[in-house]
Amino acid sequence: MGKKLRVGIFSFTGDEGCVITFVEILNYKIRDWADKVDFVHARVLRNKNDMADIDVSFVEGAIASDKDRRKLLEIRENSKKVVAIGTCAISGAPSNHRNFFDEATREEIRPILQQFQHLEKVQPLNAFVRVDAVVPGCPIIEPTFVKVMENYLKEFGVT
Ligand code: SF4
Repeated sequence: MGKKLRVGIFSFTGDEGCVITFVEILNYKIRDWADKVDFVHARVLRNKNDMADIDVSFVEGAIASDKDRRKLLEIRENSKKVVAIGTCAISGAPSNHRNFFDEATREEIRPILQQFQHLEKVQPLNAFVRVDAVVPGCPIIEPTFVKVMENYLKEFGVT
């Protein structure tokens, strides 16, 4: 069997609509990708979740807490390419509503933010790491996700 693209699917703050859309895409792409893509880390697929030597990580959601930030840095360290999928990951919106709260509301939620070590502002991925490509949309535009995956299959010499 030839080389497979080692792919991770990760989710941070959002409603997981982009990951659900990824599963929808598998409905029609799984046969095509079965001998080309190894989903080494994908909580949604309940696999072994291996973080080692990932070729491409697709990352959904905004970064809202210190825990998110540390995990994102770990993903970047272990991935040759990082792709921000969906507007939460690309710009923070719509999961960054609290960034726009008035001062009184911010004070009201401050104890919760502190308790769960949330960041002062909800941020997109590129506030902390280099992002190599994006798949826009809320949720992601399916043909764009497929195109990005297929471009990486070529770039990594799988197809
Ligand atoms: S971009 Fe939209 S669909 Fe994707 S996680 Fe954020 S809110 Fe959900």
